[in-house]
Amino acid sequence: MTPDEQITEQMIVDGRRRGGVGWIERVNPARPDEIVGRVAEADADLARTAVAAAHRTFDGWAGTPAQERLAALHAAADRIETLVEDVAPVLCDELGKVIGDCRGEIRFAAITLRDMLGRAERILAEPRVVESEPRYLEIRQVPYGVVGAVTPWNAPVILALLKVAPALATGNTMVVKPSPVAPLAVTRVLAAIADELPAGVLNVVHGGAEVGRVITGDERVAKVAFTGGLATGRAIMRNAAATVKPLVLELGGNDAAILLDDVTLDDATVERLVHATFITTGQVCMAAKRILVHRSRYEEVLEAYRAVADKALVVGDPRDEATTIGPLALPATRTHIADLVERARRDGARVDDLGTVADPDLVERGWFLRPTVVTDVAADHPIVTTEQFGPTVPILPFDDVDEAVALANGDDLGLASSVWSANEEQALTVARRLRTGTTFVNTHNRSGMALDAPFGGRGLSGFGREYSDAGVREYLQSHAIHAPAPFRPGATDAGDAGYPA
Ligand code: NAD
Repeated sequence: MTPDEQITEQMIVDGRRRGGVGWIERVNPARPDEIVGRVAEADADLARTAVAAAHRTFDGWAGTPAQERLAALHAAADRIETLVEDVAPVLCDELGKVIGDCRGEIRFAAITLRDMLGRAERILAEPRVVESEPRYLEIRQVPYGVVGAVTPWNAPVILALLKVAPALATGNTMVVKPSPVAPLAVTRVLAAIADELPAGVLNVVHGGAEVGRVITGDERVAKVAFTGGLATGRAIMRNAAATVKPLVLELGGNDAAILLDDVTLDDATVERLVHATFITTGQVCMAAKRILVHRSRYEEVLEAYRAVADKALVVGDPRDEATTIGPLALPATRTHIADLVERARRDGARVDDLGTVADPDLVERGWFLRPTVVTDVAADHPIVTTEQFGPTVPILPFDDVDEAVALANGDDLGLASSVWSANEEQALTVARRLRTGTTFVNTHNRSGMALDAPFGGRGLSGFGREYSDAGVREYLQSHAIHAPAPFRPGATDAGDAGYPA
């Protein structure tokens, strides 16, 4: 990209575009000698200025009639829809995600925003006065105040929207800190939202861990919403403890896909499994990260999986519509995955390359890695027990369902899982035994997500929910106003009878 084509984004603080103390530059992972653009970088003082703006604005925004708030956010959804063609190439260039998926992510952000607004409208209209006689009980649902959102790079737009939409719709104000790894597209989308809102309601600052620490530790921030890695989640939890902030923590996963002995192996099903593993080059929290197959079908599954993957996986320029595997977002991830695969090979595993390489010169220069499938590997090998977050997957056999369930549940992470079987009843029975926040049947990963389904982790994959009504209610807390009957003239309350006077 020529310097003229490079993108420059400011921060958004108190309704104004703001420069910072420096710049965070982002290169194109497919062409690492090319700068895609830069965002203004905050220091601790600027981060606090953004928190102050959100704090000052809170009473006004929370006090704005819900219909007015929702109308402004619907206008923002209209704007996002018009941005798809402009912003998708930016997301593609900064992240290496293939162009069709980039368009999909931005379109889906608008869809999610509208879905959340519909849910918020219904939830905010729920009756408040639960009882009036003989005692009075009113249960209000009130926003928290300032929500601090810290987000990752792998689906930067949608993972920010899943926090921004419900938090703002319910009357909270926000400071959002996107990941410095992919800050450009999300800033464009957040700017489109902020422009529809009163100054200070939605603030966006850029930076790394230090700026994140300031936001998640500030006493004026009432709730923290975080998506990212486990170590960061723990650091944020510690940091938020001093002011007892409630949290939503969406952390990593090591999802198992369990293929039962009657699994259907037609091309469409196997293709869903392959995409469940390799979409966004495997850099998805709820990708299938280990595949467990009944031994009676093991060889057959391997053959079908390799055959379909060889056709479906095309490594190349993420701007090319035919590409399905772009580069990794970070060179460190590439090294980490390559090392994991190499270690498995050294320890006796079989490693097969998958797919085809469309543009060998580009692939040689960029942060690409050929997708692989790893077999003949021990269940306790790190390639099985850790979240790889890249284009490789181990496939292991099991002898009976109990063993498969034990393997799947034998991990402290509990984000998602899947069960694959021609018999839906049987699949559901196994699904109910899995300790994850989500279990899919005959599909896996985000193409299987229903907007009505709450999404979030169990165990070390975190807590709190996104999507669905649960994802809206995360940003509301109850306030019960209660006048018990004995304290109301002429009323009696049998419920208090057992209490001493
Ligand atoms: P990360 O934890 O490195 O960074 C996430 C964000 O936290 C970034 O904005 C980063 O700047 C910020 N940060 C880093 N240190 C901080 C600190 N001490 N205090 C406050 N903020 C800090 O994660 P990543 O590499 O951007 O994302 C990859 C991880 O995210 C993977 O583990 C993946 O599974 C997980 N993830 C989870 C979900 C989900 O919904 N559960 C979705 C996507 C990604």
